[in-house]
Amino acid sequence: MNSKYSSDPTEHNAVLALCERVAIPEPKAAIVACSLALIETCGVVGPPLSPEHLGYARGIFRVDKKDLVFDACLIPKDSGFIVEVCKFNPRARQRFSIAHEIAHTFFIEVMPELGLPKRETGIGLHSEYNYFEHLCDIGAAELLMPGELFRRAAAEVAPGLTGILELANRFQASLNATARRLTALNLWSCMIVWSRFNEGAEDVAHKPKLVLRTTSADTPEFRSVRTFWARQVSRCLRERGIVSENVCVTNEDIRMESLRVGGEVISVIIPAKRQPRMSAQLPLFPSRSPTTRSKAADRQSRLFGR
Ligand SMILES: [Zn+2]
Repeated sequence: MNSKYSSDPTEHNAVLALCERVAIPEPKAAIVACSLALIETCGVVGPPLSPEHLGYARGIFRVDKKDLVFDACLIPKDSGFIVEVCKFNPRARQRFSIAHEIAHTFFIEVMPELGLPKRETGIGLHSEYNYFEHLCDIGAAELLMPGELFRRAAAEVAPGLTGILELANRFQASLNATARRLTALNLWSCMIVWSRFNEGAEDVAHKPKLVLRTTSADTPEFRSVRTFWARQVSRCLRERGIVSENVCVTNEDIRMESLRVGGEVISVIIPAKRQPRMSAQLPLFPSRSPTTRSKAADRQSRLFGR
């Protein structure tokens, strides 16, 4: 990442200030540390984790569901913050929006000038091109699907669409957020593809809207499975439930599964012979030596004034 974290100088300086505050030079690691420290401070067990509970510890004393044309807004008040979320969004999306606003409070704490209400759209979908908002999405994902907890859960379910649905249900996250988390943490050795279609035009070629893949060596490239994928999406649009088939691509057996969800099709593509990877039974928060514990406590007290 280059040294410019936002085109907005205040946001850029806030990223630097946060890194300095938690003594972690890499911004993504810094926002993850803030999120984990908050979870630890709240003594949260899960899943699912409650963004309202976590937000309360960050001064968000009220969440209002309102008739909005955007996802959410963080509104500063004398005694803390109010979060407004779009009442028409599904609950999983509202939860992620609240968590995203919690992440904003980490930056506002070190840069109070950022505390102006902002109408937020595209929460959960920000790429590195909007690095500041992308950091808040990373913080939100960590708050709702903490890394170690999510890794353990992902190791307990079979890789595939049923597994993604189970994880999404367990963490009360959207399929999109769950898929992004799976690939961001490089779990399962898989590729997850979204496509959108128009009712009545189901025979037209389907273009992927989003392709996510883990970086494992045995995760296929999209171009190698595109033909099989397009054929399965067409079939999926005619059938109900999960459509599954095994195909052989360049001497590799892969399993493809697709499911129509509303106006979209989600497909998961995994090596067919791959067994579920069992991760070590790691605790949510690794035990620490007395030295690191005191460092963590020190960091928390700097973060949350405790
Ligand atoms: Zn935001």
